[in-house]
Amino acid sequence: MILVVPIGITGRYILHALLEPLSSIFGDEVKAGERLQAPDGSWIASRRQYMASFLLSALPPPRGRSDRTLGILDADLFAPGLNFVFGQASVDSRRAVISVTRLREEYYGAPPNETLFFERALKEAVHELGHTYGLGHCPDPRCVMHFSNTLSDTDRKGSHFCPTCEVHLTHMRAPFR
Ligand SMILES: [Zn+2]
Ligand SMILES: [Zn+2]
Repeated sequence: MILVVPIGITGRYILHALLEPLSSIFGDEVKAGERLQAPDGSWIASRRQYMASFLLSALPPPRGRSDRTLGILDADLFAPGLNFVFGQASVDSRRAVISVTRLREEYYGAPPNETLFFERALKEAVHELGHTYGLGHCPDPRCVMHFSNTLSDTDRKGSHFCPTCEVHLTHMRAPFR
C-alpha cells in the first residue's frame, strides 16, 4: 500500500488527481493519509524553503516491507548543496517527498495549465517512489526514472517505467509480495 500524505497547506485536489494513476502504475493500493504539519526546523527562513530530509523523516513510517509513504508539499523544497529539488526519496525508510510548486506554469510567469501541472506532479511522484524501490536513474529520456534537470526534461519523459526499469521494479518488489 502506498500512503499519500499532504504536508502543510497542500490542497487535497492534488492528491485526488494522483491516487488512481499511481495505483494503476504500481499495481498497488494507494490511499490518502492525514495531513502532516511541517515539523519545526524544516522551514529554513533565510532560504524561504523547506529542507527535504526534515520532511522525509517526519512522514509516517510505512508499516510493511512492501508499503511506501509519499509526502506532497506545495512549497519550495531544497537539499544541502542544491538550489532546489523537485523531490527526495529514501530507500531505507521507504519514504519520499515531492514539491509541486515549481511544476506550475505560473511559477515561471506563464498562463496556468492544469493538465500539464498534474502530468508533471504524477511524473515526479512516480519517479521518487521508483527510488524508494531501489531504482536508479535511467538513460532512456522517455522513462519516468530519467533524471530531470529542468522541467523540459520532465515534459519530455512519460509517467511510466521503461521495460528495463519495469523488470527491475518487479524483481525488487517480488520478495515482499
Ligand atoms: Zn531521481
Ligand atoms: Zn527506465
